[in-house]
Amino acid sequence: MTIEAFKCQMCGHCCQGEGGIVMTQKDQIRLAAHLGISVEKLVSDYTQERGGKLHLTSGKDEYCIFFKEGCGVHPGRPDVCRAWPYFRGNLVDEISWQMVQDYCPGINPNADHAEFVKQGREYLRNEDLLRYDPDTSPNALISED
Ligand code: SF4
Ligand code: SF4
Repeated sequence: MTIEAFKCQMCGHCCQGEGGIVMTQKDQIRLAAHLGISVEKLVSDYTQERGGKLHLTSGKDEYCIFFKEGCGVHPGRPDVCRAWPYFRGNLVDEISWQMVQDYCPGINPNADHAEFVKQGREYLRNEDLLRYDPDTSPNALISED
């Protein structure tokens, strides 16, 4: 039987911290539609530009502005949120995968790194979460190889 390499435990750690959530154009359109607002309003009210890319803002508690005991915009969340923890660093580097287990309790330490990579790549391909544009896609996403 295949061991599940990751199952979210809803701890919220990955929704905390300044500025990791890059918003591509695809993300903006999807999230604005989910919220029932225009892309212009989404950008002006909920994002900040840094390093030439738009990022979701954080609240005073340093959690993502949409975090409310879990993701408050789950169906409309950005690609980078969908891709976690199958980020490039965790897929290409076994040490990163080991270290990040302290941060993300959803990663199953009983599944080995090769299994995590196999399931992660399959998930990213199936969910259309591969890096498609170096100028706008989050660096954390892997490209198809
Ligand atoms: S850090 Fe991991 S377990 Fe916690 S909410 Fe994020 S994905 Fe889920
Ligand atoms: S959009 Fe949702 S999943 Fe992404 S950081 Fe914000 S609260 Fe977390």
